[in-house]
Amino acid sequence: MFGVRYLGGGKVAVSEYPDPTPKDGEVLIRIEVAAICGSDLHALLSDNPLESNTGHEAVGIIVDASKSRLWKGGERVGIYAVWGCGKCSWCQRGIYTFCDRRKSCGGLQAQYACVPEHIPLPLPEDVDFVAGVLLSGDGFGTPYHACKRMKVNPKDFVSVVGCGPVGLGCVLYLSHIGARVIALDVRHERLDYARELGAEFVVNPMSVDAVSTVRDVTNGAMSNGVIEASGRPEGFALAMQLVGKGGTVVCVGENRDVTVNIGQLIRGDIAIFGSWYYHRGEYWEMVELYRRGLDVRKLISHEFALSEAQRAFDEFVSGTTAKVILKLWE
Ligand SMILES: [Zn+2]
Ligand SMILES: [Zn+2]
Repeated sequence: MFGVRYLGGGKVAVSEYPDPTPKDGEVLIRIEVAAICGSDLHALLSDNPLESNTGHEAVGIIVDASKSRLWKGGERVGIYAVWGCGKCSWCQRGIYTFCDRRKSCGGLQAQYACVPEHIPLPLPEDVDFVAGVLLSGDGFGTPYHACKRMKVNPKDFVSVVGCGPVGLGCVLYLSHIGARVIALDVRHERLDYARELGAEFVVNPMSVDAVSTVRDVTNGAMSNGVIEASGRPEGFALAMQLVGKGGTVVCVGENRDVTVNIGQLIRGDIAIFGSWYYHRGEYWEMVELYRRGLDVRKLISHEFALSEAQRAFDEFVSGTTAKVILKLWE
């Protein structure tokens, strides 16, 4: 089989690997579509080459279920990329992300993969592979989980700081449920995507005073909610300036070394929380949203064949795309 190999420094190759064979309790999946995630960038851009890749968002067809009692060949599936132990109390509740023995999978930017049988999610016939890779991966799951936990009401003002793929997923979902979305990013391409996905206002903090702009559009009240999806300290600092009294800031960007003014939180009844990935049980909620018209496929700006992997990663690294997907058999 062929798959992507990260060579270090942003370079990739399409390499040939032995076809994987399932062990007891595993299934072999022929991967049709895989996505590139912001979290791949760390390994992709580091100087250390990998044996394969950190791809963890993929959908396909089970082609060998001989070592599984749960699945049969031909079933279409997505892959839930956080591999809980399957046994602990969190895993029993379907919350693999809380499992202390969890593993995150990798290597899914390839034509085949073997995964433990408790990992795949069934992909219904009315969900195509492109929608499926967003609904079963973190492309839409991470935005959905974060926004749902923020408990947004229709007509609330929500600022989304950082409009990479996760921020854009938040723009799409929040607009769909009737929130008034203010999208903020330093790249005009990403603000263009945000507007297409439903943002009512787009703000480039490099060109205008973002705080006074948000103050104006919210009639001085500032945002009811803020999603921090930039993962940068200046993004977090801006998020804390954009949140209004009684508001909530949700951190989905992997920020470190930020300062929080506890006085602001106390005096303003402001909540801050973090949000990672999504809970397995939320998959069917997202499928239902898709069936009722939330077209997650709009999040994809670029599609490439596996042979064009370098171009796909170059585009993604440029920071001007929305979600980028790879079709493994083209
Ligand atoms: Zn991801
Ligand atoms: Zn567990």
